[in-house]
Amino acid sequence: MRLVVGKALHCSRCYGQYPGRRYVDCDAAWDGPVVNQVASVMEPGVDPMAIDDLILCEDCIVEIAGLVGLSRDEEAQRKLTEQGAVIAGQDQQIAKLLNKIVKLEGALHELTPPKPKRTPEEQREFMLKNLEKARAVRAANRAAAKAKAG
Ligand SMILES: [Zn+2]
Repeated sequence: MRLVVGKALHCSRCYGQYPGRRYVDCDAAWDGPVVNQVASVMEPGVDPMAIDDLILCEDCIVEIAGLVGLSRDEEAQRKLTEQGAVIAGQDQQIAKLLNKIVKLEGALHELTPPKPKRTPEEQREFMLKNLEKARAVRAANRAAAKAKAG
């Protein structure tokens, strides 16, 4: 299926040939009539033409779509186009802001001082606390063993 613009094909439904309309070639074989056979409509350059592909003009498509509740709403189409442009602009803004955020996070990371290590005094206190805990556990184990032995 493809959209045909700027080429006045014969519509398989209304048999019209309108240069200003868009057509959809449905890529489907269709056993239609031969048009432009009547001498009164024959003009120079107009030849009889067999309609053997399902091709619909946009007006017929709109009419057909109306049967299933769809319609051509040009105001809605215009709003969609406008909103699409607004969204595209917002996407660009978001991309720029995300870039700034990444740069600021990098700068913040460079400014944040590393976590300080323990001073020698703090290290000594840390070791002493652990030593006290170890002694308390050992004393408790000895007391338990003594009580068990009786
Ligand atoms: Zn048509």
